[in-house]
Order: sequence, then structure tokens, then C-alpha cells
Amino acid sequence: MVDLDPKFLDYLRWTFSRHLTFHECRRAYWFDYVATYDREVDSHLKNKIWKLKDLTSKRFLAGSLVHNAIAEFLSNLSKGREMTENELHDHLLQNIERYRRTARDTLAEYFNGLASEQTYFDRVRTEGTEQLSMFLRVMWPPLSRLGYTQHEKPERFEIDDIPVTVKIDLVSKSPDGRIFVIDWKTGGDDERYQSDLQIGVYALWAAWKFGVDPTTVVTDLYYLRSGKTVSKHLTSREFDGIRQTVAAEYQEFKKATSKDANPPSPAPDRCLGCKFATVCEAADLTGAR
Ligand code: SF4
Repeated sequence: MVDLDPKFLDYLRWTFSRHLTFHECRRAYWFDYVATYDREVDSHLKNKIWKLKDLTSKRFLAGSLVHNAIAEFLSNLSKGREMTENELHDHLLQNIERYRRTARDTLAEYFNGLASEQTYFDRVRTEGTEQLSMFLRVMWPPLSRLGYTQHEKPERFEIDDIPVTVKIDLVSKSPDGRIFVIDWKTGGDDERYQSDLQIGVYALWAAWKFGVDPTTVVTDLYYLRSGKTVSKHLTSREFDGIRQTVAAEYQEFKKATSKDANPPSPAPDRCLGCKFATVCEAADLTGAR
């Protein structure tokens, strides 16, 4: 029986990122979401884990900086000011430069021993600026005709009494009252990347927030690399499946609290980019050599 701080249950919520970590490596999940509530974990390790949580992975950096730049664009827009393409690029480039200078302390791969590579940051710059230009020139003009509602705002709600938190890239409303839930995708257009679970939970939030049927919420994935837009139309039956998945996973989160119940899944690429590799006994860091 794990001696857990009661705050674990107070703060327990289903989130899409928790779902992803849970299915990628259970030990990483334990470090990220449970260990700091376990009263038997010594305080020295807990302090280390808190610091490691701030690391990010090369896998996610480019996407997260592009998301940040678009969020900045939307924040300015909500105050009546439209950023130019150059300003959008500058926002991205300044953040990339900040990460390039501090890579050993901020990016998991370099923190875990990978030698610095200038080519990586060159690629993030090239791809990031291309994606922001795609956003501003191709995707934003039709989107700007919808009414802006909110962006990147953490929202809490419940799905059948299960607490859930979402943070949606952009929510808009058309003049005829339809709700649009928009998610920027910075990876490829492959099917695996198109998560019905993520966008379905977003639609359930929109249905709760605006008092509409979830099947009427327009859920759009905007692929910033190719300029492609994919609209997902989920049925009532699919929403039922999403509700069941969220409820079942939440029960698993409640049960799987011991370190042993969350075994490691080492793999060279995964461990090299893992925030917790320096405290994980099973870490496979052969990728750093
Ligand atoms: S280092 Fe590897 S095995 Fe350990 S938690 Fe991270 S991903 Fe899992």
C-alpha cells in the first residue's frame, strides 16, 4: 500500500499529456505524476524530480515554440494589435536562441549526455519560420473571419464526474453560432498523429462550456507543415467511447500509484529524450554515445 499525500487525489485530473506519458513509459509517468506525492520517496530525490520536470525534449521543442509564437500572435490580436510576419519570426528566433545557449540545462537529450549539434537548431529555425509563415499567409486569413473566443486557456470540467483539464490552441465562433475547436499540428500529416481522443475531449469541453451537442462542434486540425486542414466529425457513439476511455484511464491513474506498478520501458531514443533518465535505474542512454 503506497503512503500517498492526499493532495494526489485532490489534484488528479485526466489530461491528454498524462494519457500520452502513461502509454509511453509507465516509469516516466510515475516520476512525472506520482513520485512527488509518495511519502516514502526521500526528499532529496523529490527535489531532483521537481527540477527535472522543467526539462523539455528535442522532440517537442520546435512544436512548442511554434505554438508559443502563435499564442503570442493571438494574445496581441485579442488586444487589437496584429503582429507582422517578421515579428512572429523574431519571437520564435529569440526563444530558439535562448534554448541554444542553455541547451545543456534545458533540453533532456543534452542534459543526458548527447553532444551539442548546431544542425538541430538550424533545422528548428528553418522549419519553425516556415510553419509560422504558413500559419500567417495561408491559415490565418480564413480563420480571421471567425469570431475569436479564446486560446491556450487552461479549462477544468468534468466528463461523467471525472475531472479533466484541457488547454485548447484556439476556440472560435462563426457568425451562425457554430463552435470551432482548433488544434495546430506541427508534425507530419500521418494518421497516427490525428488523435480522436484529444480532439474529442476538446469537443466535449466545448459542448459543456457553450451548452451545445458535441456532434455540432467543429473540430479542425491545422497541419502547419503542409498547410492541410483536417476536420474531424465524431459521432455520438465515438463520444461515448471517448467518455469510457477517459473514465477507465482515470481509474487506472488512481490505482497505479506504486513505483512497481509503473515499470520502465527503456529504449535508446525514448530514454535519451526522457526528463528522468538521470534518476531512472533502467535508463538506456546508449543513444548519447
Ligand atoms: S529513462 Fe527510459 S525507462 Fe526510464 S523513465 Fe525514462 S523513458 Fe522510462
